[in-house]
Amino acid sequence: MKIRVGFGYDVHRLADNRDLWLGGVKIDHTQGLMGHSDADVLIHAICDALLGAANLRDIGFHFPDTAGEYKDIDSKILLARTLEVITEKGYAIGNIDATICAERPKMNPHIPQMQKIMAEILKISENDISIKATTSEKMGFVGREEGFAAYAVALIEKQ
Ligand SMILES: [Zn+2]
Repeated sequence: MKIRVGFGYDVHRLADNRDLWLGGVKIDHTQGLMGHSDADVLIHAICDALLGAANLRDIGFHFPDTAGEYKDIDSKILLARTLEVITEKGYAIGNIDATICAERPKMNPHIPQMQKIMAEILKISENDISIKATTSEKMGFVGREEGFAAYAVALIEKQ
């Protein structure tokens, strides 16, 4: 069995009058993330980790933000399409590990739901998708609450 690893990173700016979507879950907060899609920074980092593991470029290559069809798109759709493209290339997901970097709000209460939603889309066990959260100790753009960042690694296996 051949295994491969991939890494993903994404960042989005916080803005007023936007819903906050993370890991496919809508979270109550004073601001939301801004972007061409729903700006789900966690899903985007996970898509990039999966695509990178399969050497299939990145999320912007597959779903360009100049394409009108992706305007305000639900990132869960992008995650499902990412699974399709890696499956077409003969890969199955081993496991995913991700970290959200955000000063506020508290992520821990939402993590089980994120795991459930994304595991269902990716057709894996909730045990194979780990989500962690950290603040930036008030330093940098995350610390100043200008935006959120997310990092992910994914292991995939050639079937
Ligand atoms: Zn993004």
